Amino acid sequence: MMKILQYPHPSLRHPAKPLTAISERLRTAAAKMLELMYEHRGLGLAAPQVGLPYQFIVLNPTGDPEQKDQEGVYLNPVVLDKKGSQEGDEGCLSFPGLFQKVRRAKTVRVQAYDLNGNALEITANNLGARLWLHEIDHLHGVLYIDKFSDVAKLAARDQLRTFEYDYRKAQEKGEIPPDEEVEKELRAAEDEFPPIL
Ligand code: ZN
Repeated sequence: MMKILQYPHPSLRHPAKPLTAISERLRTAAAKMLELMYEHRGLGLAAPQVGLPYQFIVLNPTGDPEQKDQEGVYLNPVVLDKKGSQEGDEGCLSFPGLFQKVRRAKTVRVQAYDLNGNALEITANNLGARLWLHEIDHLHGVLYIDKFSDVAKLAARDQLRTFEYDYRKAQEKGEIPPDEEVEKELRAAEDEFPPIL
């Protein structure tokens, strides 16, 4: 069953591979990711957050499941251009309850493919730009905590330690597999997922 993985799960640091094919399995995974995203009141979710080491994300900047026209599944997204600067509060579904200010570009131009294989070019501003940059970072193992200012890092320190402590405790109890096992599974998924896609 698909679920949102929490920091410090190794999948969040594992660089995702570009997709080479579109399949029913990919569509199903994307639909489940959208469901999870809405359920947890998120605006975006990247495949590595559910343990899939592939470059795709789901987004809805409104966070409203009724606004289907705002919803999208984007494959192999890349940032073409960034402009300006903005600072604002940012959260992440893999870090429940942790919000800190993060500086990001104010405008981004991105390229991606939709589930029909059409190439799209999208310009996003403000919250939209923040969202795209946050989700694309996930595909490269980069997390918003890496972008925190020194003050934000200090403010988040206890919460991050708690996430790490809880994760290691769950591993000790055998509720979460050891990191090496997870890494092995991720590498196996890299080899197995595309042909079945
Ligand atoms: Zn995130």
